Amino acid sequence: LNSFFAPIQQLVQLYNVYQQGQSSVTKLRELLDTEPTVAESPDAAELPPVRGELLFEDVGFGYLEDRPVLSGVNLRVRAGETIALVGPTGAGKSTLARLIVRFYDPTGGRVLIDGHDLRDLSITSLRRQLGVVPQEPFLFGGTIRDNVSFGRPEATDEEVWEAIRATGLESLVERMPEGIDTVVHERGQSLSSGERQLLALARAFLVRPRVLVLDEATSNLDLQSESRIEAALDALLEGRTAVLVAHRLSTAMKADRIAVVDDGRVIEVGGHDELVAAGGRYADMFATWSRHGGAPHEP
Ligand code: ADP
Repeated sequence: LNSFFAPIQQLVQLYNVYQQGQSSVTKLRELLDTEPTVAESPDAAELPPVRGELLFEDVGFGYLEDRPVLSGVNLRVRAGETIALVGPTGAGKSTLARLIVRFYDPTGGRVLIDGHDLRDLSITSLRRQLGVVPQEPFLFGGTIRDNVSFGRPEATDEEVWEAIRATGLESLVERMPEGIDTVVHERGQSLSSGERQLLALARAFLVRPRVLVLDEATSNLDLQSESRIEAALDALLEGRTAVLVAHRLSTAMKADRIAVVDDGRVIEVGGHDELVAAGGRYADMFATWSRHGGAPHEP
């Protein structure tokens, strides 16, 4: 499964590592250089603090010439709402999400945040107001505190603890030999997959971005981890705009609205009940899912 954040992670990572003056910069730069980047306009503007409304206006995009991946996408994400993107694998959900973080620019139409065309903005100032939660969160060798405060190294211990509490990691961290000063390893083997995901949510929480872009993890977690993650997500999404690439219908159902992406287009948008009543594609997906006893919907 491709994770749409793989490239973004490297960018964000590079940016933050620069700020911390750490030594793995060279390695990260090598990674970065192999990835495409968008050009920043010479008179790029700083993005002022946003409310967090996103607008896709007749957006078209393709990775390769003559192979459109998105076409005629229109979608408004209201400030403060959570919208889930659902649809078959390869439909273009991750690509849509990548355009928000501006890993690519559209080849047609525009993507706007609070009315500003993303292409007119400084990339750094845009990403400062965006939080990104990848499918497979990365940890680096360092303490829990370093890992949580990654996007805001200047955060105080109190703020780090607040993020840890908000995401339900408190008991775990308290059980660790040295609390938030406990060192975890790069591949994070000392933490379970669910704990790594919680840590990624704590990291996003600490930055308090206006807009969050999340790629739901597909790994199978035990029920307890699932419910902890659900609670942490509730805390994180509260009051923010969020675009969630949902791999499970059970997650999508809880979003304020759902956008069904199919073959590079947004074909339906609405709340769960509304879309079920409309009897379209989402209603079909939901019926199939219900017939299978509500098993995780895998694309
Ligand atoms: P989804 O997230 O809905 O599964 P994606 O946005 O990942 O869909 O992919 C949409 C289409 O774009 C697919 O046909 C996929 O193969 C193609 N695609 C995705 N990423 C790349 C890439 N980096 N380079 C070329 N094609 C890509």
